[in-house]
Amino acid sequence: MRPESLNILFKDYTSLAGIGDRTAGFLKKLCGPCLIDLLFHIPIGINHRPQITNLSQVKRGEYGTIQLTISEHITPLRKKMPYRILATGNLCACDIELVFFNYHADYLKKQLTIGQTYTVSGKIERIGCTIKILHPDYITPSSTAIPEFEPVYPLTAGLTNKGITKSIQTILAHLPSIPEWLDNSFLQQKKWPSFHEALKKVHTPHEENDLLPQNTNRLRLAYDELLANQLALLLVRSKQKKQQGTIIPTSRTLQSLLKKQLPFELTNAQNRVITEIGSDLADTGKMIRLLQGDVGSGKTIVALMSLLQAIESSFQGVLMAPTDILAHQHFESIKKMLQNIPIRMALLTGREKGKKRQELLSALQSGEIQLLIGTHAVFSEDVCYYKLGLVIIDEQHKFGVHQRLALTQKEKGVNVLVMTATPIPRTLALTNYGDMDISILDEKPANRKKIETCVMPMTKTTEIAEKLFYKIQNSTERLQVYWVCPLVEESEKSDLIAAEKRFEELKKIFKNRIGLVHGKMKGSDKDAIMEKFVSGEFDILVATTVIEVGVDVKSASIMVIEQAERFGLAGLHQLRGRVGRGNTQSTCLLLYGKKLSQTAQARLKIMRETDNGFLIAEEDLRLRGAGEILGSKQSGLLNFKFADLSMHSDLLYTATQDAKLILNTDKNLTSSRGEALKHLLYLFKKDKQVKTLNA
Ligand code: ADP
Ligand code: MG
Repeated sequence: MRPESLNILFKDYTSLAGIGDRTAGFLKKLCGPCLIDLLFHIPIGINHRPQITNLSQVKRGEYGTIQLTISEHITPLRKKMPYRILATGNLCACDIELVFFNYHADYLKKQLTIGQTYTVSGKIERIGCTIKILHPDYITPSSTAIPEFEPVYPLTAGLTNKGITKSIQTILAHLPSIPEWLDNSFLQQKKWPSFHEALKKVHTPHEENDLLPQNTNRLRLAYDELLANQLALLLVRSKQKKQQGTIIPTSRTLQSLLKKQLPFELTNAQNRVITEIGSDLADTGKMIRLLQGDVGSGKTIVALMSLLQAIESSFQGVLMAPTDILAHQHFESIKKMLQNIPIRMALLTGREKGKKRQELLSALQSGEIQLLIGTHAVFSEDVCYYKLGLVIIDEQHKFGVHQRLALTQKEKGVNVLVMTATPIPRTLALTNYGDMDISILDEKPANRKKIETCVMPMTKTTEIAEKLFYKIQNSTERLQVYWVCPLVEESEKSDLIAAEKRFEELKKIFKNRIGLVHGKMKGSDKDAIMEKFVSGEFDILVATTVIEVGVDVKSASIMVIEQAERFGLAGLHQLRGRVGRGNTQSTCLLLYGKKLSQTAQARLKIMRETDNGFLIAEEDLRLRGAGEILGSKQSGLLNFKFADLSMHSDLLYTATQDAKLILNTDKNLTSSRGEALKHLLYLFKKDKQVKTLNA
């Protein structure tokens, strides 16, 4: 239960004096449902309203505050004309004019009485010897001070900066007393103020520096936010660990059999990760692990080795891929790898139907099938397992990790390994997947050659195609080309048109040795085309981004990507990773359409310079921001209010350490610091995670 004292911050906006349903609705839309959300809505600018005491201080259109005495009201002849109020001030002999459109004359007469002195503030214009203020922001009796600095907040229609400022100040004035959750010595070392003090100061900036992420007050709040987040993730993780998981002993007979018949040695990273996963499986707690590995780092074999561990202990294993093509390919390549190892495996995608599907399901239920490979169809309602021990989800490059995890929820205690093909920047991995254990494959098989990457204009398309044709004709080894068509718009339809057009054009050169695959094709048609490409019947495969994910054709060594500037770095890296899988030197041609912006140039340059997915991910984060990378629709995406991962990564690492330390020494948060930390968790709405404490 949330500490009583905090409840006031979780009321809705109508609890503030002067705020009705309408304004409350706007506020809710702008920053969230309750007062604390508004309190966490921080300024992005400052209005400076200096006291104007000298005419030379008046700059065109800047804010200022003046003392004045009203001398005359001038009602216009026609309603459309402005209402003017003349006044005199202490600024030499200048006339002052207050100007109002859409006025209520009676109201103005009452508010600004002739002969009285007021303090007025607004944007000041000077025309000759007249000073004009159009619609002053403040009109107060002369004794009331108008703040010299005013925070500027992000707004939406229906809200005013003044209104928001006032509401926030009201909330701040009623802020309950909150216990300190940070270590005293840590605070002193950082010279940070208390949470309360920091909030107050963040909402009363006095200079531009106060708005920067490195401002002390902002740092304090960013740290609090990150600490709340990391603590919450660790709480979830430790709850999962406590969940009884299926124990799968590390017996290695099948694994060594497989190792012996592989045509290559496993890399050190592969061996390390297989061991990590192995001991996690053998452990009592439920495994929820993320395997990050660059394209081509050899995740499939890691998956298979782990599945063998489960199968050897008479559990069933599942390998789930995001597309039919990929499921199919995994099935075929794993079947080949398991040649002399007697394991009953099956393929289940949306395509298996009717009697065949029924037979498959009953063989699965009876335990006859030991290894199932498929798409999300493997978790359809009517699919029942006999004894499922391990689920591996491949190629989560779109980061829908948490959604996919939910799929496995039906099978209690089952161990889950999620494999992502696109490395995630460390900060994002920590903040978004801190509730999972993470294994990293940071080494590629040794024989790999670096893919040569060139950037060229689209105008060279025909020339490139002809050169490729010539090269293929005259090469002694088999060369194959992927030709990826642009993401024209968000719609698949226009992608398709572009791809079809390109296909027709290239067909003139490549005749019957060219194929086309796209997302709108029927699965079996897609397979048929891929089959022809794999078997070498086609030299070139024109595709929309359906090939982005996982396809493995060893003799394909040339990748052409049209309008490469439209892709994210991670996407380009994925596509490029489709080549360079065999022993030939591979090439990737990035074709750009229009004149490149500076960012686009920077991005393509990175692609040319490195093929390290982890580095590319960091750059992608720097150039595009977290939202773009994770995709705003994905669950698990964080919108931090104070923290900025590109500026506060050091805070994140410290907060992560701090959170671990806290839970190691006080796992139920019962110490006095623990109690204070519960306040922190509630303030950042981690109610759900706090609940795991009592469970
Ligand atoms: P990804 O991590 O992109 O899924 P794959 O598992 O598809 O990579 O592996 C890419 C290719 O590298 C496959 O053809 C696979 O057989 C091969 N491979 C995997 N591990 C090794 C290794 N240790 N040495 C050489 N080749 C390997
Ligand atoms: Mg793969």
